[in-house]
Amino acid sequence: MFSLPQSAASTETVNQTPLRDMPIIPVEEDRHALYLLLRTCYPVRAPKLSASMSDLRLALRMARKYDVDVLLGLAEEALVSMLHFHPVSVYALASCYQLDDLVTRSAIATRKLHLRDLHSEDLYLIDGKQCNALVQYHRRCGDAACQITVDWSWLTTFPSAIFLTGGEWALLSSCGCHPADNTYRISTSGGMNYKGTHWWRRYIDMSKAALEMRPCGEAVLDEALLSTILADARACRTCKVKIDASPDCLKNFAVAFAAEIERVMEQVPFVL
Ligand SMILES: [Zn+2]
Repeated sequence: MFSLPQSAASTETVNQTPLRDMPIIPVEEDRHALYLLLRTCYPVRAPKLSASMSDLRLALRMARKYDVDVLLGLAEEALVSMLHFHPVSVYALASCYQLDDLVTRSAIATRKLHLRDLHSEDLYLIDGKQCNALVQYHRRCGDAACQITVDWSWLTTFPSAIFLTGGEWALLSSCGCHPADNTYRISTSGGMNYKGTHWWRRYIDMSKAALEMRPCGEAVLDEALLSTILADARACRTCKVKIDASPDCLKNFAVAFAAEIERVMEQVPFVL
């Protein structure tokens, strides 16, 4: 680079040294871009990249263009810190610069976004296949999360405010919140039978609708959702007494549900 032809003589000086005596390398980057690059190379504290997505884009582009490995390392660290704030942007940048581990991690982080929010101004960096892989992964996670409500073999906790045991529903007169038939019946591997309430099933149905679009444990822990269901349930005097005695019954169920969702999500592979 330093053997490139030099520009015409100049009378300008830098620190009393005539500019014409200094080698000049023309580059297309602006002052800020060069600041980031040179601060990384210079033996002082490296620039902080995580505060700005635009700096991060710039750093990745220059790291690759000028083959500055230390700048690429800094950019990768900054991308990790952005995972949960801008997962789609991180996915696009990681895909563009072949940071394979981050591609998968950022795809996983997008599960907390609604399907309609899988968008970023950085998507232009990736091709249709990479973009489609992210959408399809999100959808497969949604399908897998909904399947959890078909097979309840994972469920081990049955709060008494929500579920009747087989013996109870045979002997006790129901408040009407438990269906007379075997709808909502759950049989455990240990041979126990439980029957949920209509309002519990409404929580499951509303959770499924949320999980289809946002396949993560947080979706079923939504406070507004839980409050809506419990308000409905309290309309029944019998259920109200049970809920007042165990106000966290639905929340406790939701926590176990969310944990199962996250466990199942870990088994859904991201495939490019
Ligand atoms: Zn009831």
